Formats: sequence, C-alpha cells, structure tokens
Amino acid sequence: MISQDHILDLLQNVKDPEVPVISVLELGVVRHVDVEPDGKAVVTITPTYTGCPAMDVMAADIRKELLDHGVPAVEVKQSLAPAWTTDWITEPGKAKLKAYGIAPPEKTGDIRALKGELPVVPCPQCGSTNTVMLSVFGSTACKALWKCNDCLEPFDQFKCL
Ligand SMILES: [Zn+2]
Repeated sequence: MISQDHILDLLQNVKDPEVPVISVLELGVVRHVDVEPDGKAVVTITPTYTGCPAMDVMAADIRKELLDHGVPAVEVKQSLAPAWTTDWITEPGKAKLKAYGIAPPEKTGDIRALKGELPVVPCPQCGSTNTVMLSVFGSTACKALWKCNDCLEPFDQFKCL
C-alpha cells in the first residue's frame, strides 16, 4: 500500500536540478499529491515560471524517483494557476538557498517592486545590503546575477514573481 506520506518522503529526495541542495517540496513546486486506489501517484506541480526549462527535468526526476521506489504508476500534472510565488519556498528551503550562496527571494508584493525600484537583496556571503544587480540573467534564466559591493562577491538571486 503506497501512502501519501511515503510519496512525500520520496519527493524530498528530488532536488531542483539547478540548485541541488533544495528539494522540489522545499521549493514549493509540488502543490498536490494524490494516491489512487490502484497505487498510482498523481503529483501536481506548478512551474516556478512559465516555460522554466528546469520543470521538464523536475517532472522526469519525480517520475523516476517514485517508479524506482515501488510506486506502480506515476502521473505528473502541471498546474499554472495559482502561479508559483517565492512565498511558497519553505523556511528550511530558504536557509538552504542562502547556505548555497543564493540570496533567498524577497517577499512578493515588495513596495519597492510596486514602485518599479529594485528590491534590496542582502549578500548571502556577508549580509551586506550594499549590493547591485549586474544582470537579470544569472547562472540560469530563473536567477538574476548580483554583486556585493562590500565583499565584492557575485551571487545569484532567485527572481521574484
Ligand atoms: Zn558580501
């Protein structure tokens, strides 16, 4: 008998292909897990942004992880609404991002963003807020590249949606 808890345990092993320290659960992309009477798992995921190339990899990784651990059948559905927001990243997930050197995302609805200003993104290395965005594209399309003016280290920031 496959339980929902068992599926959730397995999903904890599936990491973001771009940030291998954070799981798809911590990233908040897994929205729903159903287990049908015949043991088939139906996992609903929401892309971090529409067309994010990592999502296909995540869906394939989820399918493989579950099938490799005795789940008889797996369906991965994508749900586009409500849209993923960085608020869905769990607190442990945010701590892992920071430890990995990626600035945790700002809360959405930041008043600065509403005014068209850039948010203040603290440096994950030294905590300084004296930082500047170098490029809207960092190591992947999902991240922006920033630089700290104090420790002079570049770092990635998860883009806010
Ligand atoms: Zn710094």
